[in-house]
Amino acid sequence: MILWKDYHLAHSIEDALETLWNAPGPARLIAGGTDLLLDLQQGRHPPVHTLVDVSAVPEMTSIELRREKLFIGAAVPLNRVVLSPLVQEHAEALVEAAGLIGGPQVRNTATLGGNVAHALPAGDGTIALLALGAQAEIAGGSGIYRSPLEDLYLGPGRSRLATQEELLVGFYLPIRSKNEGSAFQRIMRPQGVAIAILNLAAWIRRRGDVILDVRLAIGPAGPIPRRSNEAEHVLRGKKMSPEVREKAVGSLLAEASFRTSPHRATAEYRKYMAGVLLENVLETAWQRSAS
Ligand SMILES: Cc1cc2nc3c(=O)[nH]c(=O)nc-3n(C[C@H](O)[C@H](O)[C@H](O)COP(=O)(O)OP(=O)(O)OC[C@H]3O[C@@H](n4cnc5c(N)ncnc54)[C@H](O)[C@@H]3O)c2cc1C
Repeated sequence: MILWKDYHLAHSIEDALETLWNAPGPARLIAGGTDLLLDLQQGRHPPVHTLVDVSAVPEMTSIELRREKLFIGAAVPLNRVVLSPLVQEHAEALVEAAGLIGGPQVRNTATLGGNVAHALPAGDGTIALLALGAQAEIAGGSGIYRSPLEDLYLGPGRSRLATQEELLVGFYLPIRSKNEGSAFQRIMRPQGVAIAILNLAAWIRRRGDVILDVRLAIGPAGPIPRRSNEAEHVLRGKKMSPEVREKAVGSLLAEASFRTSPHRATAEYRKYMAGVLLENVLETAWQRSAS
């Protein structure tokens, strides 16, 4: 079966958008192709007329500091995210998440933008970006605009991006101050390579032994990748202690909605491990925020 008819390698954002808009049939963006090509091949995505490849668009492949923010292009492959000194300095949780995705072959081609756009509730890159307070930069017919990442999702595999009209240009992350730190951990089946049983990321800002601010993200704990606002609320402004961490675990579990999935894990296992992961990432982010 023919899975696509035309393949266009875009050289700019305008080129990519115009090709999407003017395609004579269904058109889809493609970056690393590690999700989309399998979906097309295995019939989870209907055949398309045009694939628009954004992996060589210069504006989408840079990692740089821009006006007090770290910019990571949506088409940056995950291995470059892991190896970037800028990402290592400002976004430890993202380095940890990107470094765990797939294996070396997948990371050489899969992109951060593809991970976010695929909209899985437990995309590893997505969960780390949420805790880091990332904003997505989006280009479409009405120009370029930014959106907090948590506003981007509608349901499993569904984002707010207008199909065939918009694309993710990249992500803006706050740069790290001395009293801030982040961490990411996940649970995976030993032989698993595709998607986590559970993943959790934390970002903390501290003063002495007080948690000045905190962001937590967890997946899969509902239909979309999500922050844990109640647990954040419990932690914010408190002294870090075993008691406050225990309360945060209670809030996180009350907010989250875990599912039993036949090939991965039971809801009970996920619930139990969420508490363990939260303790772990809080501890690591806390230690990092001291340096
Ligand atoms: C063997 C294997 C192991 C994997 N392991 C993991 C894992 O451990 N953790 C994990 O989270 N994921 C994993 N994945 C999933 C996948 O690799 C990631 O989600 C990857 O980051 C997708 O990026 P991509 O560039 O390949 O996306 P593509 O397949 O090119 O695109 C995915 C979707 O995003 C859209 N898209 C791509 N770029 C843009 C853009 N700039 N703007 C708007 N839409 C866009 C496409 O239209 C498509 O709908 C694995 C996949 C495989 C095959």
